Amino acid sequence: MADENLPDLEILENPNARSAEERAALLADPGFGTVFTDHMFTMRWSEGRGWHSARVEPFGPLTLSPATAVLHYAQEIFEGLKAYHRADGEIGLFRPEANAHRFNTSAERLAMPQLPEKMFLASIREILKADGAWVPTEGESSLYLRPFMIATEQFLGVRPAKEYLYSVIASPAGAYFKTGPKPVTLWVSEEYTRAAPGGTGAAKCGGNYASSLAPQTEAIEHGCDQVVFLDAAEHKYVEELGGMNLFFVYADEKKVVTPKLSGTILPGITRDAIIQLLTEEGYDVRESDYPIDRWREDALAGRLTETFACGTAAVVTPVGTIRDRSGDFTINHAQTGDLTRRLRAKLLDIQHGRAEDPHGWTQTAG
Ligand SMILES: *Cc1c(COP(=O)(O)O)cnc(C)c1O
Repeated sequence: MADENLPDLEILENPNARSAEERAALLADPGFGTVFTDHMFTMRWSEGRGWHSARVEPFGPLTLSPATAVLHYAQEIFEGLKAYHRADGEIGLFRPEANAHRFNTSAERLAMPQLPEKMFLASIREILKADGAWVPTEGESSLYLRPFMIATEQFLGVRPAKEYLYSVIASPAGAYFKTGPKPVTLWVSEEYTRAAPGGTGAAKCGGNYASSLAPQTEAIEHGCDQVVFLDAAEHKYVEELGGMNLFFVYADEKKVVTPKLSGTILPGITRDAIIQLLTEEGYDVRESDYPIDRWREDALAGRLTETFACGTAAVVTPVGTIRDRSGDFTINHAQTGDLTRRLRAKLLDIQHGRAEDPHGWTQTAG
């Protein structure tokens, strides 16, 4: 039945959809972000007309003029959420309305049109209706959903475009860590920053990621997995990774610190869920500035017992070693800490419908 939230919805089935056998072979070891399902969702916006031409159609290339605005000035935003195979056999989602809300916050910052939350949620339901069989059933695996919006007007002038494409693609994702979470090593970028006050740090836009690639390359050259960015003004305070928020654990004091959302940090939905879970467990959760010098001193003194990063893709990831030009320091002997392990399991259990969900964070996609 047509969804009344989606204007002009058409369903075009993929005549070349892969067989159940082909799909099973791809789902056996999907990795991350390289395998895509048989369909995609698309919808157009134009000035005067608003949203129109919603479609579920075969996954395939977009045809764009070389003069398309997004190719030149990066007017683009995206979201990332997962569909989970639940213990009860249903397909589950985790706080998708929070993604819908954040999409609009990002759209506002990039001068793009608002997408009614009902349309965002209906587009997710439609892609899952078409490609629900692509939700992997193995342990920690899931179907990663990537809603995005691009400026499609053909125009080289610098102003907000008058035409946009909204789309959702889906990609099965295996367990991020095949043999349990492995502590990562972070490179402190002294030269590069991710976001400055007044910039786009709180928006989920491709441009933030483009500018993180040079520091990420530097991190890899120094034998690290990821970059940790400091604040742009003073290079003193820890902000976040290129795509994950950070938490600092003082287990003996039952205290946890996470950098406060001051406009340069992406407001992670995983971050928000963890703050709620820890607060309910009686932790003193502080959202505040966190100096890199405190991180080093407290880790060396053993007061800081754990650090972890969090985000939809990798859930909760332990941080083992921090490296900069002056040397290294390690946290918890570069081992996964108890709270990190427990929070990770707790979130995964809620997301996969294996644990109670008193917050109403999960819903089925049916
Ligand atoms: C998406 C993202 C996160 C994590 O957000 P979640 O909603 O938890 O997935 C953190 N930092 C950045 C820069 C991001 O783009």
